[in-house]
Amino acid sequence: MIIEPKIRGFICTTAHPVGCATNVQRQIDHVVVKGAIPSDRKRVLVLGCSTGYGLASRIVTTFGSDADTVGVSFERAPAENKTASAGWYNNRAFEQRAKAAARVAVTVEGDAFSDAIKAEAIDAIKANLGQVDLIVYSVASPVRTDPKDGVTYRSAIKPYGGSVTSKTLNTGSGEVSEISVEPGTEEEMAATVKVMGGEDWELWIAALSAAGVLADGFQSLNYTYLGSELTWPIYHKGTLGKAKADLDRAAAAIRAQFGEQAAHVVALKAVVTQASSAIPVVPLYGTLLIKVMDEMGIGEGTIEQIDRLFRVKLQGDIALDEAARVRVDDWELSDTVQAELKKRWAVLNTENLPALADLAKYREEFLKLFGFGLGGVDYAADVDPQVVPAA
Ligand code: NAD
Repeated sequence: MIIEPKIRGFICTTAHPVGCATNVQRQIDHVVVKGAIPSDRKRVLVLGCSTGYGLASRIVTTFGSDADTVGVSFERAPAENKTASAGWYNNRAFEQRAKAAARVAVTVEGDAFSDAIKAEAIDAIKANLGQVDLIVYSVASPVRTDPKDGVTYRSAIKPYGGSVTSKTLNTGSGEVSEISVEPGTEEEMAATVKVMGGEDWELWIAALSAAGVLADGFQSLNYTYLGSELTWPIYHKGTLGKAKADLDRAAAAIRAQFGEQAAHVVALKAVVTQASSAIPVVPLYGTLLIKVMDEMGIGEGTIEQIDRLFRVKLQGDIALDEAARVRVDDWELSDTVQAELKKRWAVLNTENLPALADLAKYREEFLKLFGFGLGGVDYAADVDPQVVPAA
């Protein structure tokens, strides 16, 4: 079949197998060209391994540091006339390339929040890695069923305490407008903390520990976004920010039990991913951020951020902020970048958007997530949606 992008709101319901494989290869090449990353952590579990920051983490540890990995993600397999989700293609493309490089790469597909998938992942670790030295937690989901009582929680991305009026962007039409978002209720806040807070990270560490598969001196990382004052009202100070603050609590609890190295929250830059494109206001901020950082020569995407995390930030004595977090959002949050963003944000409208921000690149990055718009891919070719090309 000929596969084209079908965009519905902030998601694309199709994905291109050849394009996704090309996108995975492009990220591998980025790491390989930069050379080896010294690390003793050779046995890695990546939760949320199929797209975005989790996929980049699996690629950087495998192709930068010769690590073997077990990955967990929630993806849709293809059918005869229906494409898989992008993450499913990414998983297959990654496995093929890791195996060709003589690395172990086993992927468990299912709900990471469930006890059954934790047990399956532990079996995969026992069979393939023995133990794990590093756990990367990069699950981003709008919904979680608590395995203890079976209650399903849905996150709500809303302000907290009062309503917020902000500029926003329709990434389809390019129109900048104002939105007012009503505050989340206490119940919505608590549900968001249940879904995106630190509880599941702690449950994973407890399950891995009980199964005896945590190596002595293991490290775990969990990704957060703090962001700019421009997005604080909707993010950092909103329901999702409360959930992210809960990661700091969970990290402290894991460190208290397993030692200082055992849990780090890592603050990352805003990049275009499936998860971030669903957050109000953030896509507008993202289009500005791309333009400003590119103009300053410090633009970074997902793979560049995670490469810098492992290649620079996690080497030697790890520098931590006052809340014991690792900061890779340092360039985004620098005074010069933020001053320029604030200046442009104040005057931004539909007419001057093309001059001040980079919606075209934002759209390109979004389509690439689903395997579209990559150089060297023949999009007019008839492809089998069930076949992912090897390298
Ligand atoms: P993403 O949407 O690209 O990836 C989410 C991953 O979670 C996918 O692998 C998906 O399969 C997996 N997943 C979702 N539900 C699952 C489930 N029930 N069971 C197993 N796997 C499941 O998202 P992302 O933007 O890479 O986000 C990853 C983390 O990085 C999040 O904690 C996010 O807050 C954080 N972060 C993102 C940004 C950003 O701008 N994108 C910035 C800073 C921090």
